[in-house]
Amino acid sequence: MKTADQYLESLKSLKIEAHVMGEKTAEPGGHGLVGPSRKAVAFTYEAAHNPESRDTLRAVSHLCNAEVNRFTHLHQSAEDLVKKIKMQRYCGAMTGCCFQRCVGLDAANAIYSTTFDCDRKHGTQFHDRFRNYWAWIQKEDLVVDGAMTDPKGDRSKRPKDQLDPDLFLRVKERKPGDGVIISGAKLHQTGMLNSHEILVMPTMSMRSGEESWAICCAVPINTPGVRYIYGRQASDTRKLEHDTFDVGNPIFGGQEVMTVFEDVFVPEERVFLDGQVDFAGTLVERFASYHRQSYGGCKVGVGDVLIGATELIARMNGVEKASHVREKIVEMIHLNETLYCCGLACSSQGYPTPAGNYQVDLLLANVCKLNVTRFPYEIARLATDVAGGLLGTMPSAADLNDPEVGPYIRKYLAANPNFDVVDRMKVLRLIENLTIGAGAVGYLVESMHGAGPPAAQRIMIGRQAALDDKVDRIKGLLSVS
Ligand SMILES: Cc1cc2nc3c(=O)[nH]c(=O)nc-3n(C[C@H](O)[C@H](O)[C@H](O)COP(=O)(O)OP(=O)(O)OC[C@H]3O[C@@H](n4cnc5c(N)ncnc54)[C@H](O)[C@@H]3O)c2cc1C
Ligand code: SF4
Repeated sequence: MKTADQYLESLKSLKIEAHVMGEKTAEPGGHGLVGPSRKAVAFTYEAAHNPESRDTLRAVSHLCNAEVNRFTHLHQSAEDLVKKIKMQRYCGAMTGCCFQRCVGLDAANAIYSTTFDCDRKHGTQFHDRFRNYWAWIQKEDLVVDGAMTDPKGDRSKRPKDQLDPDLFLRVKERKPGDGVIISGAKLHQTGMLNSHEILVMPTMSMRSGEESWAICCAVPINTPGVRYIYGRQASDTRKLEHDTFDVGNPIFGGQEVMTVFEDVFVPEERVFLDGQVDFAGTLVERFASYHRQSYGGCKVGVGDVLIGATELIARMNGVEKASHVREKIVEMIHLNETLYCCGLACSSQGYPTPAGNYQVDLLLANVCKLNVTRFPYEIARLATDVAGGLLGTMPSAADLNDPEVGPYIRKYLAANPNFDVVDRMKVLRLIENLTIGAGAVGYLVESMHGAGPPAAQRIMIGRQAALDDKVDRIKGLLSVS
């Protein structure tokens, strides 16, 4: 298993290029905007070696019969699914941001069982290919980007009806016995520039006639023809300032990248679905369920950070004993722990797939994610309430350090004398980061849209709820027909 330093070195050797704020950047990890997100991924390596967390971050792989980082593990039991949630809460609570490594993990678990089912039905050879590929990922301890979301163009039209067929990533050319050439883009890619590999998946269910869009394959990050355009986050340029004080989270951050595939060749041994339209939807559904489960861990961990910061600012402001403040903090904890309960529930009710790995309970995973689209917003609202208006109006670190106005800031921002005024400002910046700053991309916008918007979960909840069974039971109870 790699150490954090070995991980950072391994990325440098890949020599990728990205466009960051209008400039071609040769080693994006060294860029001020990208660096904090790379540190967040490096934490998942460090934690696998740290005595406090190594047991949480490690699992024994059935593919290579050895210990691997749990971020590469194919779940072998419901207990594994529960351990995943605990690992994600831990990482979220330690970094206060998205640590990016779970999308690839969720993709792998979905592809593992889907390829097995596809081979059984169509006589294809995808499952063994994927097993070999993933055993290599585990042995090398790599980060894998899970690339599902297509640009999708006009949402009222199917892929083949778009003016530009590349608006859904597709197979442009098939070279039998050799591989495929793909073309298109994937948007919002979490942690892309911190990854070694990309797992491309279809974005939605496909129908007959849409075979070109039913593609799942693996692409090395430094493949010719793949371009990276860095996504902006609110107040991100604060990360470029000499003094990191105003960033809020001075060490860690998230990352999303627009990724363009321009006639990219993928050799056959890296193709895991090609034209089997009946399995595109299965793959999307399974991936989405795993990732909806994931949020019951990671967003709870970030919620821990926001609750801790809110309690601390209440103490710094001298209001921590006020009854309405106590009530609000308790409400924040209640909402956060409810999300954790959902994450644990859908994990503990997990079941084995025919391929042997474990799938989360689909209904409960969707309930989990639907709550995630709401509760972090309410937690953020309560944090904003308790923190006070300074959250949106505080002077900058540059002014704090200015010899002329700095003393006024220290004088007038003093509150509870047991706390240092600059420490109070740091806590306010962290709350600002998570509620309205760069951290809100991961804590709020991603809670809404990541793994699909609320309408997608409502559809799945409606499908999974076995309503007819409930109706039949009432009919039996009341002897009505
Ligand atoms: C921070 C962040 C990180 C992400 N990370 C990843 C990642 O790592 N990998 C990845 O693949 N994706 C990632 N995503 C993408 C995420 O899965 C999508 O944003 C999500 O699925 C919504 O898709 P969209 O953004 O295209 O919005 P849209 O699909 O346009 O949805 C916007 C609204 O329109 C509605 N809508 C859309 N189409 C229709 C329709 N046909 N009929 C009726 N209503 C419709 C939706 O329900 C929603 O309310 C990430 C997103 C965010 C915000
Ligand atoms: S949003 Fe959460 S689950 Fe998804 S990659 Fe980030 S930390 Fe992991």
